[in-house]
Amino acid sequence: MVDETRVHSARRYNYWLGGKDNFAVDRESGDMIAAAHPTIRTTVVENRGFLRRAVTFLAAEAGIRQFLDIGTGLPTANNTHQVAQGIAPEARIVYVDNDPMVLTHARALLTSTPEGRTAYLEADLREPAKILADPTVREVLDFSRPIAVMLIAVLHFIEDTEEAAGIVRTLAEALPPGSHIVISNGTGDFADEATRAQFDAMKASGKLDAFIRTADEVARLVDGLEVLEPGIVPVSDWRAADEPQPRPTPAEVAVYGLVARKR
Ligand code: SAH
Repeated sequence: MVDETRVHSARRYNYWLGGKDNFAVDRESGDMIAAAHPTIRTTVVENRGFLRRAVTFLAAEAGIRQFLDIGTGLPTANNTHQVAQGIAPEARIVYVDNDPMVLTHARALLTSTPEGRTAYLEADLREPAKILADPTVREVLDFSRPIAVMLIAVLHFIEDTEEAAGIVRTLAEALPPGSHIVISNGTGDFADEATRAQFDAMKASGKLDAFIRTADEVARLVDGLEVLEPGIVPVSDWRAADEPQPRPTPAEVAVYGLVARKR
């Protein structure tokens, strides 16, 4: 069921991206966050740019042909399968989200090339073992060959860093060597005092559902995995030499990104 009275992160994200698939509650929450972080549109645009560059790297340079995209979001430009299948038409992608509205839109719009496959699963990131055991996931993805797990702008909905790290560990343990984990997560590391105070106040009021992390906390999420160059950096600076210069500042973006590899 789609609940129009409760904020949902996918619809709020769609609002920031300029989309129409959102309700008044989502816009209100989006405006509240924008009041503290006025460059939120830069944030989401840069986050999408990171997704595109990370998938391009994985498909074109790392030879990855299978993707598990958890926290898909409402379809927009350059979705994971479009980028991957643009490079390798045979690429196979499973989209996972816990918002029924996302899955309805995804089924309609995120359709595969004839050579590849796309599939959709309504499931919760908090239950990674369930995702891994799902028959659709097992049918579409071959767990004897490398898989990239995309966790883009979704881990920051899990407040506890140990819980989030445990989820990443469970996923990584199920993957063969040569698999990759891609993460982006909001951060307050570059924010000024006033912005931090505004976020603290929103959190204290119970109105904030997304939790920022420091660089150290983000590093803990991929403990035991090899973080590839250029490391844990603002998403706008991840392999962005070919993007328009100058890049936005880390404070404007306020999201860390990384690609890690299982040896
Ligand atoms: N990955 C996309 C969308 C990010 S918006 C991008 O970066 O552009 C966050 C998405 O995560 C939303 O679609 C929301 O529905 C989903 N989400 C939030 N919490 C989740 C959870 N616990 N399990 C699965 N999906 C979740």
